[in-house]
Amino acid sequence: MLLVLVEDESGTVTSGSREALTLARGLAADLGLPVHAAAFGERSELAATLSAYGVSTLHLLEGTFTDDYSPECWGAALGELIQHAGATGVVAAASDWGNEVLAHASARTGEAFASNCVTVHAGERWSLTRVRGGGMLLEDAELTGAVKFVSLATGSVEPAELPVPQQIATQSFLPEQVGDLAHSTIVDRTTRGSGVSLSTARVIVSGGRGVGSAEGFESLEELATLLGGAVGCSRVATNSGWRPHSDQVGLTGTKIAADLYIACGISGATQHWVGCMGAKTILAINTDPEAPLVTRADYAVIGDVHQILPAILERARARKQ
Ligand code: FAD
Repeated sequence: MLLVLVEDESGTVTSGSREALTLARGLAADLGLPVHAAAFGERSELAATLSAYGVSTLHLLEGTFTDDYSPECWGAALGELIQHAGATGVVAAASDWGNEVLAHASARTGEAFASNCVTVHAGERWSLTRVRGGGMLLEDAELTGAVKFVSLATGSVEPAELPVPQQIATQSFLPEQVGDLAHSTIVDRTTRGSGVSLSTARVIVSGGRGVGSAEGFESLEELATLLGGAVGCSRVATNSGWRPHSDQVGLTGTKIAADLYIACGISGATQHWVGCMGAKTILAINTDPEAPLVTRADYAVIGDVHQILPAILERARARKQ
């Protein structure tokens, strides 16, 4: 059996997990195995989506340890399920969370873990290509061992549902060995901006030097909120202290796979391009018609972002009413 660790945002399976499910279904078909999924806590509402992706069993890892996130406990619990249910491969989205839980689970089971893969082929050995060095290097590797752990880099696979959903069963699993493993405690959480993460956002409104200041990002924030998206930025914006590094798109930031990427006053240097090229549609707003991002974008508006954005905002506000 292949097991997919599923991540959701308020009950909706993330696009990264949908990619992982699609990959796992292909690998399982090659190996002649079923696909199971694992989620933490009472998440039976995920079953309908998972059946559309070919999952035959959803394991719900339950117990008081799920009350708050602890990578040690959650990794150990997943490791216990893997051994109990007899998984021979484990796949997750290469999100911070997916990589962290899989790292702990693989360490607990004493098996190898390849993170940030862009291709995976299953056989007796699993051969894969993974991203290294912030996207600068692609590395081919092979996994051996009884259980293979992989995480899938965002935008590597087109998520695809089955024409007819798979019958799915839901089972509770109560791990026995997670009692006193927690060594990290969450003391506070702060939701930033619209609360939508860059790696899963369908719409990203991103700003660079052309935005001019931290205050200039207020209109980007408003547009992102109106469109149900997130705010991103270039390295100039983070280096200038206008935005935190977690907002940075690019080689040394986040690689995005949004449906729409609105780049405001961003030139489109290679290091930025590698982070945003996974977007389905790019709209560039720039004063320079020759800027690299303008020439690569699907749509471009040539002009001052401080005039163009208010006009777009006005329309977006009107549509929201
Ligand atoms: P600029 O290149 O200065 O471009 C500003 C753009 O705004 C120009 O095109 C200009 O025409 C336009 N503009 C100016 N005023 C206006 C206005 N009023 N209205 C509309 N348009 C306007 N960069 C990243 O973004 N992400 C990374 O992860 C990253 N990693 C890096 C890693 C390394 C090792 C190195 C060396 C560099 C990295 N960089 C990264 C930096 C990258 O090379 C560029 O310097 C950076 O992306 C440029 O940011 P920018 O487009 O905001 O600024």
